[in-house]
Amino acid sequence: MNCQNCKTITEEGYSVCATCELRFAGTLLRLARDVTPLHDSLDATLHPGGHSPVRIQTATPPTPIRLDVLDLIDMLDATARELWRCLDGIDALDWRKDRRNEDLTATLIACAGHARLATFADAGFYMHIINDIARKVDTALDPPEQRREIGTCELCETMLTAGAADQWVTCPVCGREQRAQTVKLRRLKTLCWDDSERGSAADISKAFAVSGLKVSRKTITTWEQRGKLPRHADGYAYCDVYRLLIGPDLTKSVR
Ligand SMILES: [Zn+2]
Ligand SMILES: [Zn+2]
Repeated sequence: MNCQNCKTITEEGYSVCATCELRFAGTLLRLARDVTPLHDSLDATLHPGGHSPVRIQTATPPTPIRLDVLDLIDMLDATARELWRCLDGIDALDWRKDRRNEDLTATLIACAGHARLATFADAGFYMHIINDIARKVDTALDPPEQRREIGTCELCETMLTAGAADQWVTCPVCGREQRAQTVKLRRLKTLCWDDSERGSAADISKAFAVSGLKVSRKTITTWEQRGKLPRHADGYAYCDVYRLLIGPDLTKSVR
């Protein structure tokens, strides 16, 4: 017989090989460990936008729950219970015969340790489905690194995140759709028109890069050495760097 997952020759009576069985069990255990973090990340105000110190009452009621995470938990729950019924030889569609009353975490752990995990007929099929769900869980729990904070929501002040290519962002709290570029520019304006905003050369370089303005740390320190840019006790003023970067003519047109 061939392993239903990796196609290598496996012992008679086994649906998946010993290596794939280990991997399958490992994925199930990892998902069992992810159940609590998944429930925690249902709260849209905590993730990934973070808390905002100032909130205003919005016209439309906020959506406090991440529906994508809710769907994922439902899918994982249904799949784990179905897998358990298959393993235990209960007709997968006949839920009435399922007397188990365990929670999701316990069901996943029970599946991982089940004696028939490598021998039941649909092992390869379920391994595929479980791998797919595990990938989605990973994405939900660890948003890709490329997403970064670009500025706050125009309605509710929640910090918004976007990928480099995103044209539009949707606020995870109030659901307001807004142009990514507008959010970035508004943040830049706030930083640059308030002359008490200070930062290190690296901070400023990073904040400007997010808004599409290129100025290296080195350029900023060079300006200081040449006497063009004052350095205060708490760092450089964003507005000073901005004026040097944009020049006097452009500053007027932005205002
Ligand atoms: Zn295999
Ligand atoms: Zn908002």
